[in-house]
Amino acid sequence: MQGVGFRPYVYRLATRHQLTGAVGNDTHGAWIEVEGAAATIATFERDLVTESPPLARISAIQRTETPPTGDTHFRIEVSASDDDQRPDVTPDAATCADCLRELHDPTDRRHGYAFINCTNCGPRYSIIRDVPYDRPQTTMSVFQMCDACQAEYDAPSDRRFHAQPNACPVCGPEVRLTASDVDLHGRSAIEAAAELLKSGRIIAVKGIGGYHLACRADREDVVSRLRERKLRDGKPLAVMVPDVATAGRLCNLTPADEAALQPPGAPIVLCPQRPDAGLAKSVAPGCRDFGLMLPYAPLHHLLFAAGLGPLVMTSANISGQPLTYRDDDATAQLADVADAFLTHNREIYRPIDDSVVFTFRDDAIPMRRARGLTPQPLRLNGLPPGATNRILATGGDLKSAVCLLNGTEAIVSEHLGDLSHPDAYRHFVQSVERLRQLFAFDPDFVACDLHPRYLASGFARQLDLPLVEVQHHHAHIASVMAEHGEVGPVIGLSCDGTGYGTDGATWGCEVLRCERGDFQRLGQLEYFPQVGGDAAAIETWRPAAALLHAACGDEWRSVVQASPLAPPDNALELFSQQLAAGLNAVPTSSLGRVFDAVAFLLGLCPRNRHEAEAAMALEAAASRHDERPATPYPFRIEQAADAFVLSLREMVATLANDSDRHTNAPQCAARFHETIAQGLCALARRAAEQADISVVALSGGCFANRLLLSRVVELLEEAGLTVLYNRQVPAGDGGIALGQAWIAAWTCIT
Ligand code: ZN
Ligand code: ZN
Ligand code: FE
Repeated sequence: MQGVGFRPYVYRLATRHQLTGAVGNDTHGAWIEVEGAAATIATFERDLVTESPPLARISAIQRTETPPTGDTHFRIEVSASDDDQRPDVTPDAATCADCLRELHDPTDRRHGYAFINCTNCGPRYSIIRDVPYDRPQTTMSVFQMCDACQAEYDAPSDRRFHAQPNACPVCGPEVRLTASDVDLHGRSAIEAAAELLKSGRIIAVKGIGGYHLACRADREDVVSRLRERKLRDGKPLAVMVPDVATAGRLCNLTPADEAALQPPGAPIVLCPQRPDAGLAKSVAPGCRDFGLMLPYAPLHHLLFAAGLGPLVMTSANISGQPLTYRDDDATAQLADVADAFLTHNREIYRPIDDSVVFTFRDDAIPMRRARGLTPQPLRLNGLPPGATNRILATGGDLKSAVCLLNGTEAIVSEHLGDLSHPDAYRHFVQSVERLRQLFAFDPDFVACDLHPRYLASGFARQLDLPLVEVQHHHAHIASVMAEHGEVGPVIGLSCDGTGYGTDGATWGCEVLRCERGDFQRLGQLEYFPQVGGDAAAIETWRPAAALLHAACGDEWRSVVQASPLAPPDNALELFSQQLAAGLNAVPTSSLGRVFDAVAFLLGLCPRNRHEAEAAMALEAAASRHDERPATPYPFRIEQAADAFVLSLREMVATLANDSDRHTNAPQCAARFHETIAQGLCALARRAAEQADISVVALSGGCFANRLLLSRVVELLEEAGLTVLYNRQVPAGDGGIALGQAWIAAWTCIT
């Protein structure tokens, strides 16, 4: 409960009810002793739950009666063990309603102050250097509280009692705007920045976890200038909107979307674009959704208060590199991109990106777990009673995140980026060190991906600890089992881009029987050759050519050549030779590559400039088609020696022969989605019947595709199966560290 203001909250509540007694913490949680009339205590207990502070979570209340002691007042006990307890470091929280009211109140001493916070909101994880969570251990240590702030900090009745980042304009950090001809501080800096944004300038804005690049989202000339200067990879840009009403004018929001946008998490929520949204085309080219978020730092609120509309607010990282968060790095790296810098002198110690979620059946499902979610621990059910080991799981290389499992409590780190860039790998190593220090975490075991060349696995292998290597798709399914406390056996449907298989092939669409820490492969997508190494995951004609070759033989070449997206002849010739000789051609069952191939066949996307660009274009096209469900293409389930195989040859041949496939792309894309959904369900059902299992777990990056996720869940449920999917960690590779840790916890005990 540290840092969430629970004890002062109890103090205020008890005092209000005129109850005497005390509140304190011990290793089991908070304890409260109250003395008074039975009816008053009953009301107190009810209010305790209903009025609980936004960041506190009451999971259970146990009550016992004790003899009255005749206390005359209520007190907060600061237990001696406070310092030795493993800290519950909380995530950064968006500005609360009380602070927001003060921020906009001209009579308040923090009117217009960009660092207002209280025990219910403000920075936490991003500013903590070490434990215990106390001001000297945060990046606020350089600011000496003024008398007024100190009085609040010391008063149990105050909303800022022990609020470590407490500050005001007299004693706290300060905003600064710099440009070639500008150097302003405080409120005039914010007002000037707002004017620059209105006039179409690009500003680097230092926020809670790092720098953003901000500009108007409604002017094509402005957004395309931002793209020209930096963001050439076509990635969709996040948009910050002043309020939920504005969000509703840009996107079709469900009540779940509206709820997901709110503080304290305030993540980026992916929502379907409205045709009349009026934003610049290049905000999210080729996408069905906008990634929307609400202002979450007081600075954002102050910018919008100056009358700004929707702003592009994209993480300021140079392609592939980690998030920019140090002031000197920002000045150096963003000088050619930003027209001005809106920065401040509160240091960010742990850089942390914005979280990204989408909603499905009222759940906000993370695609990227970071600000507002990390380091909230997950308590795992279902592990064996003796699971007391400390396990460090190092995750994957793309969408990297690590997991610290301490017995049954798992902390999944923030998104650490793509490790292929040297700076990103250095950042990964430093983040692991800092997490281990923060949680005083000394692992007994280390778990990693089986891949021989993952950097995250290399890191694990050199740690000189007992090592558990985990197959990639098994880890995906185990992440679902860990979340749900499901020991198995389950049928796992693991669908993604690539993972290293136990047979050396590149797996990517697997049906696994999973129980405890073990798995057995029961089914797969039919292998096809992945020709050309890394290029096979970028150029969409490559998987298309390989699948066409399997489906139509020698005709493949004329089909590829006829496409407006056709590669040059010499590339085709080399491909043809490699295919014939089996050179540089690894067998793959990647479903991600099938999405790429079909995006090529429909003329939608020549190359993945960023991960899953082709798949997103295909999903966007399919969602433009109204018929639900669409008619599937033919597919086949074949019984091979030891596994069921889903063959898509007939689908590919049908698509290749459909001369209207470019003009009818939305319909073809919808039919393709339905084919995959039905094919996956058929595979899962065959495996479930054979193994006599009624629970199916879905995971892997392909299930970030909501069209696919919702249809697969629907079909499996119609077939009478229980369906589990990720709700706490991403279905993509950001979730595999949790699965690795779960598997290691089972493996290390037996
Ligand atoms: Zn607050
Ligand atoms: Zn102050
Ligand atoms: Fe994966």
